[in-house]
Amino acid sequence: MKLHSGNFAWPDTLLHLPEYPALQQNISCDCLIIGGGISGALCAYLLAESGINAALIEKRAIAAGSTLANTGLMQYSNDKTLTSLIHTFGEEPAIRFYKMCREAVGKLLRLSQSLRSEAHFISRNSLYFASSEKDLNLLHEEYETLRKYRFPVEWWERTLIAERFPFEKPGAIYSYGDAEGNPFAFVHGLIEAAASKGVSVFENTEATGFEFRQDGVLCRAGEHAIHAKRIIFATGYESWQFRKERGSHLTASYVMVSEPVEHFDDWFERCLIWETARPYLYMRTTPDNRIMMGGLDESLPGGKLDEARFLHQGDVLLKKLHEMFPEKRQLKAAYSWGAIFGQSRDGLPFIGAHPSYPHCYFLEGYGGNGTVYSMIAAEMITDILTGKARPDMEWFSLTRTAKPSPPAKRTSRKP
Ligand SMILES: Cc1cc2nc3c(=O)[nH]c(=O)nc-3n(C[C@H](O)[C@H](O)[C@H](O)COP(=O)(O)OP(=O)(O)OC[C@H]3O[C@@H](n4cnc5c(N)ncnc54)[C@H](O)[C@@H]3O)c2cc1C
Repeated sequence: MKLHSGNFAWPDTLLHLPEYPALQQNISCDCLIIGGGISGALCAYLLAESGINAALIEKRAIAAGSTLANTGLMQYSNDKTLTSLIHTFGEEPAIRFYKMCREAVGKLLRLSQSLRSEAHFISRNSLYFASSEKDLNLLHEEYETLRKYRFPVEWWERTLIAERFPFEKPGAIYSYGDAEGNPFAFVHGLIEAAASKGVSVFENTEATGFEFRQDGVLCRAGEHAIHAKRIIFATGYESWQFRKERGSHLTASYVMVSEPVEHFDDWFERCLIWETARPYLYMRTTPDNRIMMGGLDESLPGGKLDEARFLHQGDVLLKKLHEMFPEKRQLKAAYSWGAIFGQSRDGLPFIGAHPSYPHCYFLEGYGGNGTVYSMIAAEMITDILTGKARPDMEWFSLTRTAKPSPPAKRTSRKP
């Protein structure tokens, strides 16, 4: 499956790309991780920290899947608002989930600091503005909900937004405690750290078949085989190869990264910016003073990525940037790309076991907060593998879409 195409910014930020061999012999391990993106890398790191004998295989190169397309915004507010999650799932699970996301942002920041790599993870605040007058009431309701449950947010009127940015918007939530980073460098740093603690890492090694046994799973990888007591599928948007339930849908999403700008005096606190329109536009700044902007999500023609479309969509993103920041209208694009983007229908990631895959766990962080979900999932799965109970994993069940009314049942269940 072609996951993306274009001219990516992240590889130019690393002077040296570590390389790993392809699998050359049969091996065995306690836990095999399939996939070397952010999900697999977080699992590898946490399992290594817990002393579990693990191996990781990646069919491409490390971080060459969707992680390469990731724009590195880490927010606790989700594509689905807290208000709408409360309506769908009930108060307790929805609030607990938002708190988990907030804690996960903090954990990602701390983890990045413990690595040798320059992943530039920085605390940032977020401006979430109403795209039009008609979205204002719902956005204000979301602000009231977040405030009620003690999330650190402010309500900004039109005049305050206009004082702090060169554009006018009807109103916005300004929230504290989000982050930005370089996901590509982060994954390389995590894998390097995990490998140094004993995790065996193989690139260009594809899992092609499985035999489920009493004592674990035999995973075929080309001519070789890996016997693992447990397997973690961290295969991103390609997980549909393995499990067929359709609780998610795939679209195309686009990114444009500008040339460096001279200053950000017209960009309050260099915050993360996004909006209420769906699909939304979002933007951030980078450590080398560029503007990274994404969005324009659209359906996949014929179910596939149109590989040349990122050029046109990059121009559209640049025009939108010029409209919002007229002083920067001379600014040109330096990078642009298009990528497949997955979203779950109910806004939650998929994490957990699957009835057809004994001894296995899946980790699918669908949605704009995929990195945050990967952190939550990697920690949950590591907990389970080290013998800690995580009943809250049930909220993210892979088969939840098959159940008649899962949210109603779950509202009374304590995590
Ligand atoms: C344009 C765009 C912008 C985004 N921006 C953000 C953002 O700002 N913030 C955010 O949180 N999220 C963002 N996301 C989402 C984020 O990129 C994903 O959630 C994240 O990359 C998923 O990581 P992953 O490790 O699960 O998947 P991947 O990075 O795709 O890793 C899965 C890996 O599994 C490998 N694999 C698959 N099948 C096999 C097999 N059979 N054998 C061996 N290996 C296999 C693949 O090659 C791949 O490298 C964005 C996504 C897109 C497309």
